[in-house]
Amino acid sequence: MRSSPCVCDFGHQRATFISPLSGSAAGVACRCRLEYNRAAVEGSRLDPARQQQAKGLARAGYLIALVQLLLSVAFWTVFLFTDLSSDVRDFCGGGGLQAAALYIFVVLVWFGALVAPLAFYRGFVLSRRYGLSHQTLGSWLADFAKSGALGLVLVVGLMVVIYWLLEAYPSTWWVIASALAVSVMMLLTTLVPVIIIPLFFKLTPLDDEAIQQRLAALAGKAGVKVRGVYVMGLSAKTSAGNAMLAGLGRTRRVVLGDTVLDRYSVEEVEAAVAHELGHHVHRDIPRMFVLQALFLVVGFYFVNLALGRVGSWPDFNGVADVAALPVFALVLEGLSLVLSPALNAYSRHLEAAADRYALSLTGDRKAFTGLMTKLTDQNLSDARPSRWAEVLFYDHPPYWKRVRVE
Ligand SMILES: [Zn+2]
Repeated sequence: MRSSPCVCDFGHQRATFISPLSGSAAGVACRCRLEYNRAAVEGSRLDPARQQQAKGLARAGYLIALVQLLLSVAFWTVFLFTDLSSDVRDFCGGGGLQAAALYIFVVLVWFGALVAPLAFYRGFVLSRRYGLSHQTLGSWLADFAKSGALGLVLVVGLMVVIYWLLEAYPSTWWVIASALAVSVMMLLTTLVPVIIIPLFFKLTPLDDEAIQQRLAALAGKAGVKVRGVYVMGLSAKTSAGNAMLAGLGRTRRVVLGDTVLDRYSVEEVEAAVAHELGHHVHRDIPRMFVLQALFLVVGFYFVNLALGRVGSWPDFNGVADVAALPVFALVLEGLSLVLSPALNAYSRHLEAAADRYALSLTGDRKAFTGLMTKLTDQNLSDARPSRWAEVLFYDHPPYWKRVRVE
């Protein structure tokens, strides 16, 4: 399941571009979530009571995802097939890029207001009820406002450029727009450890010399250069654990949640970092960028076909009419839904490979299993979801499979 802050979650990344129009604001380009799902594995030391809670939380998560999808489809469908969209366009000034920017802003704020209660229920009410969060309402609202504003600025900016491309290059805009969107994602990924994480969590260099040296030695063994190890102050807001290899190029660094450092053995922390190094050695980040580029090319191509039809409807003034914006949301959301099982399966495949790499790098199965078990308990992850839940929602293998990785 995809959830809060960040780490090894390619799902977030995949959603970066799609999500602004479909709801899940800017969790933005995070890498590699160490969200180890849990399972009733024979002989495991998972806490049965927490596992029961995890099942309840997972069920609530599926339901919320379904409601959000239905709300999103309903919202954009109503906009597209009634006069609402053309009325808002006219209200915003009709034609031109300025009017387009205003239209996109207004419509996204409405959409955000529609799905905000779900985000509140999932991110604040449920997280507190299950003891995963101890954020105050004010702090949660501040985070929500920040991520919403970030998403809004990004999407409005990107969509205005896309509308300019639609005007200037009506037959090839979709290729250029895909390249542009992937470039924005790469930029965001680079900025994650230097700008985006610090917006939400305190990030400080690890001052434990001994751990730092061990992790540096591990990275050296893997042949990976990392620029420092940082501690993310998760404990101010959550009790969940997280670790990641964040950033790109010169900003790449190991980031460990303080909720991991304070309750995991050094060997378990090493297992976590080894998993992240596995992603790096396997070049999973470039692979996911390529996959996203393909997704966007195909998605924008279908948008192009749909705009060709919708643009000729009586209320619309051609393909570059911003009133047809819902076409982007509906086509990309539809494609994402159809491809989700395949994309999740591919992501799970990469995760399993990173697990195998971690085991071979450290040679310490006990620490690897300990890490998985602790994270599963700590994060209230469902150890053994049903097969359909795994196919639809899981971009990481469930815990019971991970602890059996050879
Ligand atoms: Zn991973």
